[in-house]
Amino acid sequence: MKKLFALIISVALVFCIMSISASADDASENITVNDGQTVFIFENGVSSEMQSRFIADYYNLDDNGAETYGLTCTLLGHKLESTNTITITHKVRATSPRCLKEYFTFEACSRCDYTNTTLIHSEYISCC
Ligand SMILES: [Zn+2]
Ligand SMILES: [Zn+2]
Repeated sequence: MKKLFALIISVALVFCIMSISASADDASENITVNDGQTVFIFENGVSSEMQSRFIADYYNLDDNGAETYGLTCTLLGHKLESTNTITITHKVRATSPRCLKEYFTFEACSRCDYTNTTLIHSEYISCC
């Protein structure tokens, strides 16, 4: 049952990513946060809290530090909200294609500090 669920989620994700890519040129569809060298492209309608939690996680990807789970989450499981996000980090490499585009799925619990960032796909693009 879990496997089936995971399969459905991944299929849904692929469709979401495809629709993000298709509408990436349309600025009104997505929320773009420019943070110096890195541009974060969030799905339309994502809360600003989810955005800042993703950005914080993005910069701490290697840090699997202790997270504090609330008692409710320990008993009942997390109340997860999930979203797909694309990041573009400009001028990562010296030669073209220089810019790194990464596709993430991000889950965050609205009751506690739990977050989960998964890199789905990454590619180099020539954009600048
Ligand atoms: Zn939780
Ligand atoms: Zn670039």
